[in-house]
Amino acid sequence: SYFEQLGLAEPIIRALAKKGYADPTPIQKQAIPALLEGRDLCGIAQTGTGKTAAFSLPSLHHLASENKPRPFRGCRMLVLSPTRELAAQIAENMRGYAQHLRLSVETVFGGVPINRQIRKLAAGTDVLVATPGRLLDLIDQRALQLRDVEIFVLDEADQMMDLGFIVPLKRIDKLLPKQRQSLFFSATMPKAIAELGARFLDDPVTVEV
Ligand code: AMP
Repeated sequence: SYFEQLGLAEPIIRALAKKGYADPTPIQKQAIPALLEGRDLCGIAQTGTGKTAAFSLPSLHHLASENKPRPFRGCRMLVLSPTRELAAQIAENMRGYAQHLRLSVETVFGGVPINRQIRKLAAGTDVLVATPGRLLDLIDQRALQLRDVEIFVLDEADQMMDLGFIVPLKRIDKLLPKQRQSLFFSATMPKAIAELGARFLDDPVTVEV
């Protein structure tokens, strides 16, 4: 299959075969090779285009190929989502793609008690999917730190702006390691969003579907 030709790890190929993915969607075709090369990515794409797999597959491949311990109260990959529903959906998809890998996917969002999330993060996780407000609450409570993040994904940037997450996002930006791979997705890319993206991205490949 196309996914095999890309050189994705065999356990990922097996998960895709089980899901019945034969061909890549346009955003997957454009984004996955660049991401496997370690490039930053600016994606202009809506939900339903297959963008979750586009950012998840190369990231899981990278995490699995470099076997590292789960960072203490930290994560190796951080995905930010504007809403809890979307965060839960991304985490569920990523768990499916990672089902044959020894990688953990956890999710934290607001509107539910924080104590269980603090306990969940204590041992660290490979992938964390979070909403910005709860992420900062956990950091302020010393339950989480971002110094081990290797891959950072900001999803639905336009929704983030609409929901007033600009100040939290700027704070999160300052807490992330400079050396990392960054991915930035938005359904639309007006000037204010492009400027936000420029804060996070370093010489990105831009894809639009
Ligand atoms: P997303 O835009 O990431 O929310 O994905 C939309 C839907 O497309 C999800 O239900 C995915 O499981 C599905 N999907 C993603 N990539 C593929 C693919 N290459 N082939 C078939 N279905 C896919």
